[in-house]
Amino acid sequence: MRQHDIVIVGAGLAGLRAAFEGITAGLDTAVLTKVHPLRSHSCAAQGGVNAAINPNDNWEDHAYDTVKGADWLGDEDAIEIMCEEAPQAVLDLDTMGAPFSREDDGTLAQRPFGGQSYARTAYAADRTGHAMLHTLWEQAIKLGTHIYQEWQMLHILKDPNTGRCAGVVAYDIATGKVETILAKTVLIATGGYGRIYASNTNAMINTGDGVALALKAGAHAADLEFVQFHPTGLRNSGILISEGVRGEGAYLIGADGKRFMQKYAPNKLELASRDVVSRAETMEIMNGNGKNGAIFLDVRHLGRDIILERLPQIRQLSIDFEGVDPINEPIPVRPTCHYTMGGIRTNKLGETYVPGLFAAGEAACVSVHGANRLGANSLLETIVYGKVTGKEMVRQIQEGTTREFPTYNREDVLIVERKIAELKARSSEDGYRQADLREDLTQAMQEHVGVFREEKSLKKGLKKILDIKEKYKKLYIDDKSENFNTDLLTALELGNLIALAEGTVRSALAREESRGAHSREEFTTRDDKKWMKHSIVKWNHATDEAEVDYEPVRQLGKERYKPVERTY
Ligand SMILES: Cc1cc2nc3c(=O)[nH]c(=O)nc-3n(C[C@H](O)[C@H](O)[C@H](O)COP(=O)(O)OP(=O)(O)OC[C@H]3O[C@@H](n4cnc5c(N)ncnc54)[C@H](O)[C@@H]3O)c2cc1C
Repeated sequence: MRQHDIVIVGAGLAGLRAAFEGITAGLDTAVLTKVHPLRSHSCAAQGGVNAAINPNDNWEDHAYDTVKGADWLGDEDAIEIMCEEAPQAVLDLDTMGAPFSREDDGTLAQRPFGGQSYARTAYAADRTGHAMLHTLWEQAIKLGTHIYQEWQMLHILKDPNTGRCAGVVAYDIATGKVETILAKTVLIATGGYGRIYASNTNAMINTGDGVALALKAGAHAADLEFVQFHPTGLRNSGILISEGVRGEGAYLIGADGKRFMQKYAPNKLELASRDVVSRAETMEIMNGNGKNGAIFLDVRHLGRDIILERLPQIRQLSIDFEGVDPINEPIPVRPTCHYTMGGIRTNKLGETYVPGLFAAGEAACVSVHGANRLGANSLLETIVYGKVTGKEMVRQIQEGTTREFPTYNREDVLIVERKIAELKARSSEDGYRQADLREDLTQAMQEHVGVFREEKSLKKGLKKILDIKEKYKKLYIDDKSENFNTDLLTALELGNLIALAEGTVRSALAREESRGAHSREEFTTRDDKKWMKHSIVKWNHATDEAEVDYEPVRQLGKERYKPVERTY
């Protein structure tokens, strides 16, 4: 039997940062990841990480910007922890050797980012996530962390007597074997699920496995309707062009060649928060000021030297994927699904509703981002909450509340094995192909649950998703083999995407207001009286449906966090 004190599912920044706490506390800590750790989506993060490091800045302002950016749906206890711990969390990474960009005097360089009142975004050129993830990965190797690489979690185990989380059932991708790993505590750090949309900036692996499986294991998911559309995804591929580019001074222009943000955010212009800029772009495109569904990001005035020094990656991406060299031409961009504010509901220490089960990073909804995440606050969340949650898991094991290995029900493992056998047994005559269902699902989300939402269209979207959910019961796969069967794994991931799409649409339909990234055409204003509360999704196993409930926002009652209209 495989067993560890701590099992962490996910080797992105949140998972590896938490693993560091487990290992350095002397606990047997294992990390499970379905791809090589350096292929985690964290590696794709470009723009940077926020922290009030400069002596002229302070964490309280960062906290206020975050509360405001979140459109007053963020939990203030968690936001304060994140912003207060931010400078130390970034300096931890600096000390470990992360190659952050620097000023001439050796201090960390920081750039302005959307929705921030101070230039507090530390960065490593336009490859910040890459630099940070490599640094934590080096630490993991140095400390001898046990890595189950290319192992995919398929189920979360619970102790039938106590309801405690008992470990996970995982699939060894190389051998095709279903394995059981027991643990005293489990952390879900599996990242987001931007892949529910057809156009997105996310890695192929961002299918929300951890969120969907935790939901089915009895944890709650929160705020699934809040999906961030990034204002600058490349027109054709959806590949991200970092907000750091606007931080460096880029303009957004329409097909008429003129800037338009002064109409929508007269003070912050291109650096208003992402929901505001994405809506502005959508309006311009709808009003005929776009070209082939895109508007343009213009960096020509920054000059060749700055572009080559600070934005080398985005230049290359534009050349490779749009055939446009930003030194000479503006880049065609459009709003693209980028980040999921929703996730597994936790308290300010990362605990979920299932004892022994924790969540951190983009998979979690702790909730530091509320209705809208500010750029560069997510890398920050991973390193602060990886640390905070890791420490709490260690504390619970060391102080004895979690000292024994829980028991589990062998039948749960057999259910997983039977599900795989069924998928392989079905033939094309009596089933549906996963590529077709995935296409239908992601297109339905794109069409009905996008930047602007409206009741009739949302209902249509829900109907389509429920139809896909029925068809999914008759899914077949072509590849029946044991080794590296990606056909099987992506089929199982599709089931997770469907569950999260259903939760997203049901929550979006129910929320009759506009707040942060959720913009309803019939309810155009924020309604604090009725709606300053988190949407909670629970899985009803009797009906096999996502059910929507609510929970109050954790407010601190401080005068400076009092809700006001959000303008930029
Ligand atoms: C293109 C892009 C650019 C971004 N830029 C920035 C930025 O500049 N600043 C910022 O703050 N944020 C940025 N973000 C957001 C930020 O990068 C992510 O939210 C954050 O890195 C997520 O980290 P994570 O550790 O939670 O998960 P991830 O890094 O996504 O890692 C998830 C891990 O879970 C594993 N996993 C998933 N499912 C399973 C399973 N079933 N079994 C086993 N393992 C599993 C994966 O293998 C992976 O190791 C960006 C996001 C994108 C997509």
